[in-house]
Amino acid sequence: MMQKEIKEIQIKLQTWYEKNKRELPWRQTTNPYKIWLSEIILQQTRVKQGYQYYLNFLSKFPTIKSLADADEQEVLKQWQGLGYYTRARNLHKTAKIITEKFNGTFPNQYADILSLAGIGEYTAAAISSFAFQLPHAVLDGNVYRFLSRLFADETPIQTSAGKKQFNKYASLLLDKKNPDIHNQAIMEMGALQCTPTSPNCPKCPVNIHCKAFEVGKVELFPVKAKKIKQRKRYFHYLFVLNNGKIFLQKREKKDIWQNLYELPLVESDKPLTWDKLCQKDDFKHYFSDSKNLTAKKPIEINHILSHQKIMARFFIVHSQDEKPKNTIEVSVNRLKNYPISRLIDIFLKDNFNVKES
Ligand code: SF4
Repeated sequence: MMQKEIKEIQIKLQTWYEKNKRELPWRQTTNPYKIWLSEIILQQTRVKQGYQYYLNFLSKFPTIKSLADADEQEVLKQWQGLGYYTRARNLHKTAKIITEKFNGTFPNQYADILSLAGIGEYTAAAISSFAFQLPHAVLDGNVYRFLSRLFADETPIQTSAGKKQFNKYASLLLDKKNPDIHNQAIMEMGALQCTPTSPNCPKCPVNIHCKAFEVGKVELFPVKAKKIKQRKRYFHYLFVLNNGKIFLQKREKKDIWQNLYELPLVESDKPLTWDKLCQKDDFKHYFSDSKNLTAKKPIEINHILSHQKIMARFFIVHSQDEKPKNTIEVSVNRLKNYPISRLIDIFLKDNFNVKES
């Protein structure tokens, strides 16, 4: 692609953006903390859902220092419902690193930003360009799609070859004098105009440059690598309600929902009936003897995560005043102080009207 054509595309993208952009709070600021937070929230969350979380998080932790000084539990609590909790843990960790290593000031060099926990190449480029006007091109799902069509490139995205190739295109197109507007524009183009299923090609400002449109093969792009197989897991939760108290445990292991609280859990490689469940060693970790316990047919909830499908069975356990061992007792009205996974939240809200605040 010639320099003249690149310039034309840059101008068209930015003109289109100024007319069509969505007004979002993190677009009105060059504060790197706010930009960082918005980018982390939007990594796996839609704008509509993330918007309120962004506002609530900022009102609870208005500065990097306030976030660094907070308890991890408070941070996780604030994140509850957004999923992918590693993001929240990394936000907290990074706030501490900035406080200790960078005197509380967000670093303004790409390499330093990239070195922070939870910040990959895309987020580092976004913060560098939006907050500090540094010439680094962003490459997110929307940009991949747009570029793959613009150049009609069949290299599968999500592969290392694809990453290399599309990084090259993104850098080639970058307007180095206005990296902030350019990056916003190219992402918004993918989000609003060059959409996955029905891109509005006849009205697209860059359609005369678009190779996929020219050959009538827009729907073939982007080419995706084969999907990673989803892992199925079978969770059996024990719900015991005793005088307005329920029993929780903390997930300590390096696994999904680390450091969140949940009901006593027995995991197995297939779904278990109550009788089979009672024979499991993990069950005996909570109840050494099941003869005074009863449970009706479990409530089943299937919960989908990015690479895992959790097939959960919730057993409402009736015991004669026997409490599960190795758990903590929590009054239902104090549950709001404990960060819990979305799955447990759904179960409690749907079945026991236990409301989170
Ligand atoms: Fe995307 Fe269509 Fe525009 Fe090409 S012409 S960039 S496929 S919207």
